[in-house]
Amino acid sequence: MMNIEAAVASDPTTPFQIETLELEEPRADEIRVRLVATGICHTDIAVKQQDIKLPLPMVLGHEGAGVVESIGSAVTHLMAGDHVVLSGDSCGVCKSCQHGLPSYCDEFIERNLTGRRVDGSSPIHQHGQPLHGRFVGQSSFATHSLVPARAAIKLNKEYPLELLGPLGCGLTTGVGTVTNALRPRAGSRIAIFGAGTVGLAATMGAVLSGCESIVVVDPVESRRDMAISLGATLCLDPSAGDVAKEILSVVPGGVDFSVECSGVATAVAAAIECLARPGWCAQVGATPAQTIHPLDMDHLGFGRGIKGVVMGDANPQTFVPYLANLYTQGRLPYDRFVKFYDFADINTAIADSKNGDVIKPILRISD
Ligand SMILES: [Zn+2]
Ligand SMILES: [Zn+2]
Repeated sequence: MMNIEAAVASDPTTPFQIETLELEEPRADEIRVRLVATGICHTDIAVKQQDIKLPLPMVLGHEGAGVVESIGSAVTHLMAGDHVVLSGDSCGVCKSCQHGLPSYCDEFIERNLTGRRVDGSSPIHQHGQPLHGRFVGQSSFATHSLVPARAAIKLNKEYPLELLGPLGCGLTTGVGTVTNALRPRAGSRIAIFGAGTVGLAATMGAVLSGCESIVVVDPVESRRDMAISLGATLCLDPSAGDVAKEILSVVPGGVDFSVECSGVATAVAAAIECLARPGWCAQVGATPAQTIHPLDMDHLGFGRGIKGVVMGDANPQTFVPYLANLYTQGRLPYDRFVKFYDFADINTAIADSKNGDVIKPILRISD
């Protein structure tokens, strides 16, 4: 065991508290990572607020980037000193894992959302008692994290490590939904609902795919401005009127693809309504639990459809290095909407994210 500092989420109202906890030594297939930085994702906030009901208290955080400190006896592809980005855990042997789609792993929920290993144990303890410490394979709101070696992606040491954590979730989700799940051909027309990290990453994915019309919908003006600077061809404020009708008037016949990143019921409806025939909507935003959405089957009947997409249908082991390379080429300028905070200021970072002042907060944890 070693002592670590970690931000504990206890209940919806108590702020995150940075506490001294105990971390186990790596098991055979695990590594210990010293976190350099971690992004804060909307899902972390939703779990803390119990909009997504997972067990608390838990150490959250799932966009970690850091340096490998020690490795388990069975780990062969990583060594101490390697720079890694952390992603979700997966079993590696089920059909989806074999097909390179670990976000659809048979054990995805057990491995990522229970805060424990599959055997029920947790790598993090508080006063000798286990505390949920395996969130999305990592629990990265901490100085150190014990992660399955499979969930760590090795990256070139020349890349700016403190910026890379969000590649493991938000950027993979947004870019991958467009380039892997929807695969628009050049000249396609696309609408993106929600201009947070995922929607802006989807916007960049649409640019990379050669989309002709890229319509981005968001109620916050500064986010619409950011979308335009990243290549959106038109931005719309959904509070200004019927947004599907507006899209159909500027893109005659509708858009070939839509990406719904907000989880808001009216946006889900508009993202389907604005589709051309044929047309596909990717549902990415988390809707409230047990949401039932009505579908106009006459509308769907003409070659339209909606599909849920998790983690951009990506294999993080190949997709994250691809995104890091795009960033260094200047083709994925997500640093424009990142703001850094000290680890101790985690509650300020979350407040700024919730009120729309910052799109992607990153906590600096160590040098
Ligand atoms: Zn996330
Ligand atoms: Zn699997």
